[in-house]
Amino acid sequence: MGLDDITRRIAAAEQRAGRAPGSVTLIAVSKVQPDDRVTAVLEAGQRVFGENYVQEAQGKWPAWRERWPGVQLHMIGPLQSNKAKQAVGLFDAIHTLDRMSLARKLAQAIEAQERAPELFVQVNTGDEPQKAGILVDELSGFLVQLREMGLNPQGLMCIPPEAEDPRPHFQLLRELAETEGLAKLSMGMSADFEAAIAEGATHVRVGSAIFGARDYTTML
Ligand SMILES: *Cc1c(COP(=O)(O)O)cnc(C)c1O
Repeated sequence: MGLDDITRRIAAAEQRAGRAPGSVTLIAVSKVQPDDRVTAVLEAGQRVFGENYVQEAQGKWPAWRERWPGVQLHMIGPLQSNKAKQAVGLFDAIHTLDRMSLARKLAQAIEAQERAPELFVQVNTGDEPQKAGILVDELSGFLVQLREMGLNPQGLMCIPPEAEDPRPHFQLLRELAETEGLAKLSMGMSADFEAAIAEGATHVRVGSAIFGARDYTTML
């Protein structure tokens, strides 16, 4: 299993960057993985997991949470507004707040359920037309609007463009968070989490390097 290796590499990256041990939270991204791979990682002691699909997460995590107490579940995939209610009930953090219509639905659900997952605003650092996320120029205004509706975002999240060096994007996200007074940075995946830690990531989202490659055909 890749968990030990990733945990060690995170600790080494923290040290190289002069950061406190344990300052980076590993989110083990378990989307689409076979149950036995995920339960093995639970058995090994990992408690923070990331999922991309509300329905898939709802199907597997309630039972696992009973069996392995202390699980923290992070929503890292695109969130449809009509799933906001269910997401607020299920997740401890939502990394993909990327538009006003979703913010409104989340605010309603948070008030109704008296349960407030930690919120990250997804930023489209590469200004990619097809990608979700708030544009850099619109971030400040978006955060103002969120606070006006009673939401209290804790951090920023990005997915750098696939074909580019991710580091400038990680740097940009960190600068934006500093400017906006946000403490948390969700950035870095299997291929680049060490670079993200060097740039200040507080949360890395690592899937295939822990669990092995994902087989999407099992979802059809
Ligand atoms: C799937 C996914 C990950 C994990 O990707 P790996 O390359 O398998 O580590 C991280 N972040 C997001 C947003 C994802 O959708």
